[in-house]
Amino acid sequence: MTEKFNNIETKIIHAGDPKPPIKGAVCIPIFQSSTYEYKGEKLDSDVKYIRLSNTPNHQALHQKLASLENAESALVTASGMAAISSVFLTVLSPGDHFLALDCLYGGTKGFINHILSKLHIHPDFIDGNNPDSWESQLKTETRALYVETITNPLLQVPDLNSIIQFARKNNLISIIDNTFASPINFRPPEMGFDISLHSCTKYLNGHSDIVGGAVIGKADLIKQITNNLTHLGGSMDPNVCFLLYRGMKTLALRVRTQNSNALKIAEFLESHDKVKKVNYPGLKSHPHHDLAKEILDGYGGMISFELKGGIEAAERFMNQIKLAFIAPSLGGVETLVTRPVLTSHRGLSPEEKIKSGISDSLIRVSVGIENPEDIISDFNQALS
Ligand code: PLP
Repeated sequence: MTEKFNNIETKIIHAGDPKPPIKGAVCIPIFQSSTYEYKGEKLDSDVKYIRLSNTPNHQALHQKLASLENAESALVTASGMAAISSVFLTVLSPGDHFLALDCLYGGTKGFINHILSKLHIHPDFIDGNNPDSWESQLKTETRALYVETITNPLLQVPDLNSIIQFARKNNLISIIDNTFASPINFRPPEMGFDISLHSCTKYLNGHSDIVGGAVIGKADLIKQITNNLTHLGGSMDPNVCFLLYRGMKTLALRVRTQNSNALKIAEFLESHDKVKKVNYPGLKSHPHHDLAKEILDGYGGMISFELKGGIEAAERFMNQIKLAFIAPSLGGVETLVTRPVLTSHRGLSPEEKIKSGISDSLIRVSVGIENPEDIISDFNQALS
């Protein structure tokens, strides 16, 4: 058992640590053992084995993650997609229907289209900022509601308070992908979400050197998802558990720096005469700025923008960048720049791109923790 802490900065450092420390070690060691001595355990799930996600490294992470979002329980998985697929396959059964946000991460959309459809589990997509339209999309077999805290790549913020009220009223299991916000900027279980998901590959680990996922929420649901993960096999390796546990210790410092850097960079871009439009919820011009201000503790480190010169100007800008990496993914300490239509949203048809408002010239930035003046100066030279 570990102690309870009140403040997130302290939880990040101490929650989950074994007490007393193992052999006095300040950092929990890596338990790189697939199996453990049998001590007469009565339940299969109590026998220690890496795939059962119950080694000391898993247990420490589960406690830290649950504590960060003020939730009952947590589970880590081999990737964000392992978390997402295990959750869907646990809460939904063949023939079920669910509602999902109309602008989802591409991998999630792919899972829905290619795997859930084969199981006769079908969604209807909702406009997250138009609560009046949701009721008409309900069916007798609707079981769950799936959203994201901040959408990719247009950085929209759905009306999460209304979403929770609607889910409760209609007995739907509420699930949210909280990857873009991180527990520093938003903690879904505090608002009443049943399940909060993360790709730990991004902000939680923060160093672009592992792939991992997390499911955080109600203990009974986490128990069912853990049982299913045991069958599906997407468990996290203890070595990766160690890296994630270590990476998370700087989460508050990193994310708050990224919040502040992103606002400065978004303001610079918005004031530049070659920039047509900037999407960042921290800007007053953003359509969901007031909502984001009310719901979130910070606006995050992700920005997207369009240049006046279209695709050619976007390509010129990307070719001229010197400091930031041109790379997909996000949430690391280094600034990454990408064009979503070439990476994360490559699979969208021309009609889907138009419908979701993602243009071929859109540029997305995952802001790092470098000095923001250096990133601005790099972007400025690339723009000119
Ligand atoms: N959720 C979001 C919002 C993501 O951006 C990603 C990956 O980019 C995932 C989930 C999937 O995570 P992973 O790549 O760790 O499987």
